Amino acid sequence: MSNIIDGKIVAANIKKQVKTEVEKLSKNNINVKLAVILVGDNPASQVYVNNKKKTCEELGILSSQYVLSEDYGQERLLALIENLNNDPTVNGILCQLPLPEGYDDKAIIEAINPIKDVDAFHPINVGKIMLNDYQFLPCTPAGVMEMLAYYGIEIAGKECVIVGRSNIVGKPMSMLLLHKNGTVTTAHSRTNNLTDVCQRADILVAAVGKPNFITADMVKDGATVIDVGINRVDGKLCGDVDFDNVSRKTSWITPVPGGVGVCTIAMLMQNTVTAAKLQNSIIAN
Ligand code: NAP
Repeated sequence: MSNIIDGKIVAANIKKQVKTEVEKLSKNNINVKLAVILVGDNPASQVYVNNKKKTCEELGILSSQYVLSEDYGQERLLALIENLNNDPTVNGILCQLPLPEGYDDKAIIEAINPIKDVDAFHPINVGKIMLNDYQFLPCTPAGVMEMLAYYGIEIAGKECVIVGRSNIVGKPMSMLLLHKNGTVTTAHSRTNNLTDVCQRADILVAAVGKPNFITADMVKDGATVIDVGINRVDGKLCGDVDFDNVSRKTSWITPVPGGVGVCTIAMLMQNTVTAAKLQNSIIAN
């Protein structure tokens, strides 16, 4: 029988630490602030942005939301980012992706000052992660690392298989597990014999975006399975893993909801505090 990696417990622990840091900074007249930009009316993005706002409120982080219509335009969006870059009261800037058609995601990411890039998507921050010498980590893979650490799951020497190679999840996830001395395989849609590859994994991370993609036959007995996927089936939230059957074989597994997603938001808050400290020349932890 599987043990559940409870994202809510891990997130509560991170948020408690963040709240203490926010209070300490505020005593030094540093009021941590996050700016969130949402372009268009993607319903999933609206939910994410609202959750970020609520979590900021919970932790005493100031937040400003820029909810823009789809036709706002690339040039105006770049100008808004420039204003936020130059605003000393704003510590973190996040532009919710994906942007609607007609916007250049890459140019928008590159416009954000790397020191305010709390998503850690800017090429400078991505490069620093590669070098294992970073200030910010992308929130989802960083949240997964916190979950593994909290539950004392050993990474060094273990076979780690990540299914998915996106810039925001799969690639940085691979890099973080490598930095912790895992033996890492990054699988994707062109991987041959995916079932065999997954069966090798002591730690299997699914970041595919397809419900029930990881089935019990792909998972080794006693493995740890981390489900990053967020999918909606008949209005119900589910991950990429066939939880009911896979959880019979694993030693540890994350649920969806209540797993990686909640830790992702907690890590965003942590990055915002790190940004505030960096901008005020306080050495981050
Ligand atoms: P993405 O950019 O669409 O990437 C999906 C990856 O899955 C790609 O690398 C793709 O391979 C691979 N893939 C697709 N079909 C496959 C197949 N049949 N066999 C093997 N690999 C396959 O998605 P993403 O942004 O990484 O997100 C992945 C999932 O995580 C989504 O459900 C997303 O909603 C969720 N997510 C959750 C959080 C959270 O906080 N929990 C945060 C971000 C994303 P190719 O590269 O070859 O196309």
